[in-house]
Amino acid sequence: MLDATTLSETEEVLQDNFDSTVFVWSKQKGISPIAVKYAKGVYLYDYDDKRYIDFSSGLMNVNIGHGNQRITEAVVRQMQEVSYVTPYCVTKVRGELGKKLAEICPGDLNKAYFTLCGATSNEAAIKMARSYTGRHKILSRYQSYHGATYGALSVGGDPRKLPDDSQQAPNFVHFDIPYPYRWNHDRESMLSDSIAQLERIIGYEGPGNIAAIMLEGESGTSGCLQYPEGYLKAVRDICDKYGILLIMDEVLSGFGRTGKWFGFENHGIVPDMVTMAKGITSGYLPFGCLMVTDKIAAHYNDRILATGMTYNAHPVSCAAALENIKIYEDENLLENAAQMGQYVTEQAELMKQKHPSIGDFRTTGLLGCFEIVKNRTTKEPMAPFNATPDQMAVMAKVGAKIKELGMYTFVRWSYVFVAPPLCVTKEQIDEGLAIISEALKIADEYV
Ligand code: PLP
Repeated sequence: MLDATTLSETEEVLQDNFDSTVFVWSKQKGISPIAVKYAKGVYLYDYDDKRYIDFSSGLMNVNIGHGNQRITEAVVRQMQEVSYVTPYCVTKVRGELGKKLAEICPGDLNKAYFTLCGATSNEAAIKMARSYTGRHKILSRYQSYHGATYGALSVGGDPRKLPDDSQQAPNFVHFDIPYPYRWNHDRESMLSDSIAQLERIIGYEGPGNIAAIMLEGESGTSGCLQYPEGYLKAVRDICDKYGILLIMDEVLSGFGRTGKWFGFENHGIVPDMVTMAKGITSGYLPFGCLMVTDKIAAHYNDRILATGMTYNAHPVSCAAALENIKIYEDENLLENAAQMGQYVTEQAELMKQKHPSIGDFRTTGLLGCFEIVKNRTTKEPMAPFNATPDQMAVMAKVGAKIKELGMYTFVRWSYVFVAPPLCVTKEQIDEGLAIISEALKIADEYV
């Protein structure tokens, strides 16, 4: 233990946290969080005023950027008016938010059920899909993430859950989706192979047992795998053929992250249910939502759905969400995400020429990542999926360098994420990419 008298304020905050709190998704030993004192725009500052550019928008949720006073004011106004009501009462802001969400959602996705976060939105979707269809199985893909509660973790195909596999809930079945960079197929055969596999699995599991297919609106923390053109349309057709509901999880890809309100809008489909969180309040308060069609909502006109929590439709979170959505519109953040996504792609192409360790860069709007490889020809990843700490040695060094140089972002397996707040400027992108470029010199030595 360090001597308290020699600690800087940042070190003191870290020490208190290490002494008294538990960290998850990582071993307690060796973790190295940033002690954040304040945050503004795309920057975080620690207690010694060291600045970090936030290239992952927190957990890909702070879409409007940090420290926006409009949200603070909306929250204070709501707190002064009414700070809490039970889910059996309603507030003006709840209704206004429901209407606004119906306006930005396509098709008949007009009814909002407000939750607490992404996982609870997905739990509600799973429960509602089962109760609506009278079927019990939920299909989803490997290499996906849908949250950390019991059902949401089970439906996700993230391999980090495997050590706790015995704790998975039953009746979740996984399938493969195309990974264009790694599947050496042309687009047509990639589509036909993956759709044929999905249809075979539906056959094995019994179409009459399958309530829903749940997919991320665009692949996120598993490596921004990107659906090939036509893939989601083919899944939509399969759902229609077998009477299976299509649930799009827009928790991470929603609210402008991909340059549209929702990721699925890049693929010309309309799902039956959409789950949301993160960007709905840009992380200013915990909140989530399940949007369903009029038809699904009407099913509950004379039935109950046994779900709901004390803090459902919390009025203060509703107020934050409503103001946040206005900010996306007033500041043209969807357009900026699309334009900056283009710019990042061009710059990443130039970086590829300098760094032999960059195998691929892919982004949809500002949901992107570099994929780092040992060998561009064989595409051997610098760290395999679900790497052990030993296998992460090089990527851990890259991550540490990124942090040292003043950036906060995710380095997971062989991916370095590029997902800054949607208000990011070209100059800030240059600043962030220069840091990643410097850190990738470490990876280049292992090629
Ligand atoms: N769904 C997706 C696609 C996510 O990326 C996440 C979180 O990263 C979740 C659901 C879970 O959201 P939450 O952590 O708010 O429960």
